[in-house]
Amino acid sequence: MRSGPYNLFSEHLKQRFGQRVHKISVDAGFSCPNRGGSRNNPGCIFCGGEGSGATGIARGASIRAQLEDGREVMIRKYKAKRFLAYFQSYTNTFAPPETLAACFDEALAVPDVIGLAVATRPDCLGEATFDLLERCHHRTYFWLELGLQSIHDRTLRLIRRGHDYAAFLRAFHAAKARGLRVCVHVILGLPGEGREEMLATAAEMARLQVDGIKIHLLHVLEGTELARMYRTGEVRILERDEYIRLAVDFVERLHPATLIQRLTGDGPRELLLAPRWSLDKWEILNAINETFRRRGSYQGQLCGF
Ligand code: SF4
Repeated sequence: MRSGPYNLFSEHLKQRFGQRVHKISVDAGFSCPNRGGSRNNPGCIFCGGEGSGATGIARGASIRAQLEDGREVMIRKYKAKRFLAYFQSYTNTFAPPETLAACFDEALAVPDVIGLAVATRPDCLGEATFDLLERCHHRTYFWLELGLQSIHDRTLRLIRRGHDYAAFLRAFHAAKARGLRVCVHVILGLPGEGREEMLATAAEMARLQVDGIKIHLLHVLEGTELARMYRTGEVRILERDEYIRLAVDFVERLHPATLIQRLTGDGPRELLLAPRWSLDKWEILNAINETFRRRGSYQGQLCGF
C-alpha cells in the first residue's frame, strides 16, 4: 500500500520485513568490462575513479569487515536491525561464478544481513552467472540491479556505455524468465537528450513493468571525460528546477507498481564539479514531493500500460 505519491522502496521493505531495512554498500574488488577489465581505463564518460558512484566504502577490507563496519555505524546512527548487502562498486558479476558465490556467501553469513542487491551491466551476465543469481533469489531476498541509463542507442554510444539497448532487453528478459527482481538504473540529463527522450525511457520502463528503478541525475565528477566535456561547454547540466520537473514527469509515466529506489543522486562532495545544488539531497526530495502535491499527481498517472 502506498502512503505518498510514489512507491518508496524503503516503505516496501518496512512492510515486508516489519521494520526498516538498511543497505550497506560493498566493494568486492571487481573491475568492469567497460574499463577493459582494469580500474585504470576510462569506461563510461561519467564513471568516477570509484566505479558508478560508490563512496564511503572501506576499500581493500574483506566483504565481512565492510559489512560489519557498516552495520555498526547504522546501529549507532539509526538503531538499525536488518540489512541488505549492496554489491555496488564497478560490475559485480565480472568474475567467475564460483568467485561470486563465495562473495555472496560471505555477505549472507554476516549477522542481520537478510538479503543481497547486486549491481551490474547487462552485457556481463552469462548463463552460469544467471544460474547462481537464481539460486540466490531462492535462498534470500535478492535484487539484480541493471545499469541502463537510457533506452536510446545514440545516447549509449555518446556516453561510451559499451552496450546497446538490445543487450539490456536480452539481460532483462533473461532475468525475468528466472523470476529475479530487477531494478533498473537510469540517468536524467544525459548529453544530447531532451525531455522527450528522457520521458520515452520512462514509458519504456512502464511497458516492461520493471520491479524497481533508480533515477539518477547526471553528475560531473572531477577526472572524468564528462568533466572535460563540461569544461569545454560540450555538455549542459540540468538546472535544479528543471530536474525536479523532469523527475516528477518521469515518475508520473512509470508503472504504478514499480518501486522507486532512488530519485536523485549524491556524488562525492570533494569530486563533484556540477551540479553542486544536488548536494542537498533532502531539499531536492522535498521539492519533488511538493511538486507532486501541487500538481495533484502520482506515480503511474500518465502510464500508458
Ligand atoms: S559500467 Fe559502471 S563501472 Fe563500468 S565504466 Fe560504466 S559506470 Fe564505470
